[in-house]
Amino acid sequence: MSTDSDCLFCKISAGVIPADIVMETESAIAFRDIDPKAPTHILIIPRSHFADVTELTQSNPNLAGELLTLASNVAKLQGLATGYRIVTNTGEDAGQSVSHVHFHVLGGRSLSWPPG
Ligand code: AMP
Repeated sequence: MSTDSDCLFCKISAGVIPADIVMETESAIAFRDIDPKAPTHILIIPRSHFADVTELTQSNPNLAGELLTLASNVAKLQGLATGYRIVTNTGEDAGQSVSHVHFHVLGGRSLSWPPG
């Protein structure tokens, strides 16, 4: 498994920085976003370090599938039966602020479209 000692989400995965973890597997964890944008806002990350979804899918497409499955399971666990959104910001124009791939799971309110 490849990790980056300077990466915030690698530190969360290692337990060095605390997080409110809602679900975890051997290869991934789900934890609450520290600055939620919806009543339910959970981040899904792989334990291995990949900068973004492009790097992840090129290196390990099976893991990308596992992360989406975990996102779906988290949405079910959180009771988001009337709908939810999975988002992965990629690069500067999309506003990616943490360079460790993550899927946002947002729900618990009506979500507008298109996003800003
Ligand atoms: P993005 O801007 O798409 O890269 O998403 C990064 C997300 O990480 C933001 O929604 C932040 O609120 C969230 N975040 C940053 N630091 C932490 C932390 N220590 N624990 C949980 N979420 C965090």
